[in-house]
Amino acid sequence: MDVSPVRVRIAPSPTGNLHVGTARTALFNYLFAQHAKHTGHGEATFILRIEDTDLDRSEAQYVDDIYEGLRLLGLQWDEGPDIGGPYAPYVQSERGEFYQRYAERLLEKGLAYYCYKTQAELDAEKERAVAEKRPYLYERVQWTAAELDAFKLDPNRKPSIRFRVPENRGSILLDDLVRGEVPFDASLIGDFVLMKSNGTPAYNFACVVDDITMVISHVIRGEDHISNTPKQILIYEALAAKLPAFAHVSMILAPDRSKLSKRYGATAVAEFIRQGYLPEAFANFMTLLGWSSPEGTEIASLETFARQFTLDRIAHSPAVFDQEKLNWLNGMYIRQMPLAELRAHAERYLRSVDLSRYDIPMVEFILDSVREPLTTLSQLPEAVSYFGSAPLDRSHPDCVAVFAETETASILKAFEETVFPTLNWESPETLGLAIKAFANSLKPLKMKTVMWAIRAAVSGRVHGADLSRILFILGPELVKERLLG
Ligand code: GLU
Repeated sequence: MDVSPVRVRIAPSPTGNLHVGTARTALFNYLFAQHAKHTGHGEATFILRIEDTDLDRSEAQYVDDIYEGLRLLGLQWDEGPDIGGPYAPYVQSERGEFYQRYAERLLEKGLAYYCYKTQAELDAEKERAVAEKRPYLYERVQWTAAELDAFKLDPNRKPSIRFRVPENRGSILLDDLVRGEVPFDASLIGDFVLMKSNGTPAYNFACVVDDITMVISHVIRGEDHISNTPKQILIYEALAAKLPAFAHVSMILAPDRSKLSKRYGATAVAEFIRQGYLPEAFANFMTLLGWSSPEGTEIASLETFARQFTLDRIAHSPAVFDQEKLNWLNGMYIRQMPLAELRAHAERYLRSVDLSRYDIPMVEFILDSVREPLTTLSQLPEAVSYFGSAPLDRSHPDCVAVFAETETASILKAFEETVFPTLNWESPETLGLAIKAFANSLKPLKMKTVMWAIRAAVSGRVHGADLSRILFILGPELVKERLLG
């Protein structure tokens, strides 16, 4: 039985904002490590590694976005660029000496070689393959010593280092923890680049060198990398290194089963948060994108999910991004979240409404009063607008309709003159009783007619928070002002 400590990693490339697919992969790695911790597997470590070997496309702002997004989702890493760790550095652009050293090892053993072909020669090879309607395979050549000497002096022939794919290797068998046994035919793999001519490593090489040197036990990543895996296995074999366990997780698809792309709206984690999804709800949602709880749990903290999390419950088929489900979950979280936490999350959405006249407990009471029908926090400004200090907007058609009713003016006049001076402002309940008694006293007028008249007057609409709460929150001064006009 394998008893080596669990060490997993998320290895994003900072070439864009943290994508949902990467975040979901990070989450699965995190849950897997947490599960190992919970089940007494001893130490389990979740590592963040920044794969920025593509220097042209990598940007510092995306590194920050990756940090921020992962933290927001509650996925704190144990080792990483910002916090260090025993296998630092955790940024590929700072690990050049590792790649160099491992490349030299392969060169010495003849398992890799310098390739002096120019781009034009490689392109010509590919074109020939296309013309002859056969799959392209890099054409290995045995250069003579004289040729090599000439190449070395030619400034147009900066060499790359290529891996020498062993002849007659036959089938490379990937034993994947999600997909089972996946065979690849080694004869279809041409000698591939390990180190580019500019001295930077190719992805497959950097990834394997890092996974070996960081003692990664399980490589859990997106299925889009499965075609890289046979090449990576060959590199492990050449370096006589122990293979990690592999688990390739299915893709996340848009509802029409195409690739999840901008066309369907947000794809970056930060964008979903900006749209008013709670990080907790979003993490919960992503946990269920391609994994299911053995107990059927739909709503739980990451800690609870971590206790249940095993790789055998990862789905084989792609996960479809279900916006309705996300909305439903987010609504549940908004309704159930402790108010202090909800207020902290709500702050950034409430900047457009002036609630400065209320103290913190009252702001929380306002949130509690309006949260029931919400699906996202971006609906908050609209939901709380009538509690703000700005003049009340009475242009909503429902409100206009109420004021067009003949009874409205007299209902409001009676309420203001006879009930208002006697109101007990101690609690919403005392106010509620008085309103009800007033409405009953106006029979045969309908309860709804009376309520809507008062509602429209104090809030500019006929739906929203409970009426007695609205009065309680606004307080006598504002209520009187609004009843009068
Ligand atoms: N840098 C790769 C990516 O962002 C990660 C590949 C891996 O996990 O091995 O997709």
